[in-house]
Amino acid sequence: MRDGAPLAIQLPASVAAVLAGLAEMNAEAAMVGGCVRDLVRGEQPVDWDVATSAPPEAVAERFPGAAWQNAFGTVTVLANDDGPSVEVTTYRVEGGYRDRRRPDHVRWGGSLVEDLARRDFTINAMAWLPTDLAAGQGRLVDPHGGAADLAAGMLRAVGDPDARLEEDALRLVRAVRFATRFDLRLDPATEAAIERHAGATAGLSGERVRDELLRILAGSAPPSRALLLMERLGLLAVLLPELAALRGVPQAKALPGDALDHSLRAADALPADDHVLRLAGLLHDLGKATTLGDGHFIGHERDGAALAEAVMRRLRSPRAEIARVTRLVRHHMFAYTQAWTDAAVRRFVKRVGRDLVDGLFALREADNVASGAREPTRGGLPELRVRVARVLADDPLEAGQLAVDGHDLTEALGIEPGPLVGNLLDRLVEAVLDDPTLNRRERLVELARGWMSEPVAGDRTHRQARDKAGASG
Ligand code: ATP
Ligand code: MG
Repeated sequence: MRDGAPLAIQLPASVAAVLAGLAEMNAEAAMVGGCVRDLVRGEQPVDWDVATSAPPEAVAERFPGAAWQNAFGTVTVLANDDGPSVEVTTYRVEGGYRDRRRPDHVRWGGSLVEDLARRDFTINAMAWLPTDLAAGQGRLVDPHGGAADLAAGMLRAVGDPDARLEEDALRLVRAVRFATRFDLRLDPATEAAIERHAGATAGLSGERVRDELLRILAGSAPPSRALLLMERLGLLAVLLPELAALRGVPQAKALPGDALDHSLRAADALPADDHVLRLAGLLHDLGKATTLGDGHFIGHERDGAALAEAVMRRLRSPRAEIARVTRLVRHHMFAYTQAWTDAAVRRFVKRVGRDLVDGLFALREADNVASGAREPTRGGLPELRVRVARVLADDPLEAGQLAVDGHDLTEALGIEPGPLVGNLLDRLVEAVLDDPTLNRRERLVELARGWMSEPVAGDRTHRQARDKAGASG
């Protein structure tokens, strides 16, 4: 297929309605970008992007209820049926990129061809202009030969690769994402330019890098492919130096390879629709680079958790996600045996967090796959799973599950609400972790009353003060 070739497509009704509405305004409107690429590849697009000559104000006015998003002139037209919503962006021409991050200015009012020229890769720089909307007829607008590149299996920058990558360093990472997603080779000039400009990705904002990294991790292609390509092009050492440092760190595992190979295999083995788990797999052994000295990686889960946290902070990840990933890394070395008592199983769940045990088990399974390790038939992960499920179903593990609450304690013991009550509840949780049969109201009150009459009565501040005095005296 080439520039100007006729192309018939099946348009969702909501998309056809937007194109028709713009045509009624005597504006030019075309489908552009990723959706045209997907159609040329014979796939149904997920997002439908429309570009138009009409200014954003006019688009917003024509489609009541449309949300005008931002300074980039994108108007989102929500579908009134079940169809996809459509992003309509006015043709634009971007100015210089002095900081390699954002265009210095965006100007609209250009032509479709100018709009395509500012896009990153030829395969993303095609448009479809309708000729007969009702019949789904139109023609391909492909000034940069994107369809030919797709057919040849080639990813190529639009125009001069050095200039395009210098404008926006995110394009280096996007090149890796698109090349691995569609199994394309890099055009040699584009590849050489990526290697030359790899260092510029250091200036990218964490959010933009995270967004691309998560799209790589969520892809159907194994993420190891993209990460290995990033390594080869010099991007990994700049964007994820902690991970790149695992290259050459030896592993005594059944499968060959070093700690980086192992980490990539672990990420591949985790589900693509759970980026927290994929990140945990990717980052779980970061501490091996820093604990290599002792030959046994002692404490690598602790160092690894700190390194994973640093990586995710740099990527401006949401705090809750950082907490989950670091917790998974921190606990990934658990070593279950049949000798664990039920209390040990309960303490394990408490330590890891009930919300994360399933994730931790998934991480262990991926770690095994990535090592070529097998669980023992007795006393292995399947047995721990069963025991964990049982304590989760039956046993109290936290204050909220106690047969008393703070109010009960203040009433029964005649004490004021305050830190002492919290303290007593903590101690009661510890007690029922050891022996869940204690979890009856009278029994717990009795226990707490007993502690109250001890000289240090469960009051940690007293106890700590006493311990301190003892230590220094
Ligand atoms: P996906 O299916 O992953 O969403 P996509 O091609 O739609 O792929 P987006 O990131 O959604 O990718 O961007 C939409 C289009 O906008 C791209 O196809 C490309 O034409 C253009 N584009 C996006 N980011 C850039 C960029 N940094 N530089 C140049 N053009 C870009
Ligand atoms: Mg898109």
